[in-house]
Amino acid sequence: MTDTVEDVRKGLPSASAFGRLALCPGSFTMEKSCPDESSEAAAEGTLLHRYMEYLLLKDDAAEEGMEFSWHDFLNSREYESAELNHEQVELCGRALRLLDDVKEKILDYPDAFFSLVSTEERRFLSDWIEGGEYSGQWDALFRVGSDLLVLDWKFGRVAVDSAEANRQLEALVPLAAQKANEEGIIYNGIYAAIIQPRVAGPASVTFYDDEAISQAEQDSLAVARAAVDPDAPRYCSEAACRYCRAKAVCHEAAAMVEQASLIATDRDKWELFSPAEKVQAYHLAKTAKKWAAAVDYRFEQDVAAGLIPGFEMAPGRTSFTVTDPSGAFSVLSAEFPDEVTAEAFAGCCKVGITELDRLVHAARKAADPKATTKASREWLRQLLAEYGESKTTKGSVKEVEGGAA
Ligand code: SF4
Repeated sequence: MTDTVEDVRKGLPSASAFGRLALCPGSFTMEKSCPDESSEAAAEGTLLHRYMEYLLLKDDAAEEGMEFSWHDFLNSREYESAELNHEQVELCGRALRLLDDVKEKILDYPDAFFSLVSTEERRFLSDWIEGGEYSGQWDALFRVGSDLLVLDWKFGRVAVDSAEANRQLEALVPLAAQKANEEGIIYNGIYAAIIQPRVAGPASVTFYDDEAISQAEQDSLAVARAAVDPDAPRYCSEAACRYCRAKAVCHEAAAMVEQASLIATDRDKWELFSPAEKVQAYHLAKTAKKWAAAVDYRFEQDVAAGLIPGFEMAPGRTSFTVTDPSGAFSVLSAEFPDEVTAEAFAGCCKVGITELDRLVHAARKAADPKATTKASREWLRQLLAEYGESKTTKGSVKEVEGGAA
């Protein structure tokens, strides 16, 4: 694929940045002068989005009696060949289960109409300029009974804004309405959902009726228009700067980081800070971390390009994962039949619970068409209680009701 981000977006604001642009309109122009950043997390996000698209299209094709493989899909899109590791396959399985839960939640009755309309489609919108004022790309658009569902997968570990407050979804909703209107798809309203499989809890879903769709269009156009103003102001905040590519060179961001020293008072004990001061320190620390990561990134690029005397890139570490346990067991047990027994080898393996969930659910569903994924999950965990263990990760700080500051 030779398209760059700028090509596909035609240099216009894109819905994926609307959360930031609403907070810091000037970041649109600032980012234009910054190079695209590549990172393992971004590459993984692209891979996972492709795999989710493949899973949706594969399911859709299966209903028509057609089959295609992951590699067929990659070839058809001219994407480079790629494999997912076990954890990534598990993650995509969880994302699909969360989508199943969304379906169960919004469908009026279990067999109501549910069909895929399109995946990864970018559209442009304006109420007066041909060619559009902003664009947006949904991960999937469905028809759900007499409504639409526009869906966004997020694979990060940090919870994004809820569907209700999410500017990206708000900007995608009018684009989905535009498509439906152009293609004669009748709908009453549009559901918008965010599915974050790495974040605990269910998907976040909201509903737009006619009035809300029209308001979303006006609000989104206002965000886009403010962003393209060459004199758009810049406002630094943890939420705005988190994913902004301009952090390392932005005066406002650097000034915010410097401000961290302002919390030092004559009361040099954490216990003596007020809750509001602690919240301020917490937010400053988060912004400073992101700013430091942006500077690290730019510095590393320069070091890799040999531009910084006295620094060079040290080689990375290589890891190895067994992807075919039965093949590995065959070859090892043939070599060491007394030592690598089935039991000893099983002690080195972990069972992928997502894959097992799907296998067991398919079996239960074949026996009882009313079996739900949730009930199958609970049934399996009860059955295997003595053969496994449940772990709950450490919780993370979550701001509620606007925090204390
Ligand atoms: S770093 Fe922050 S303040 Fe600067 S342009 Fe980006 S979002 Fe705005």
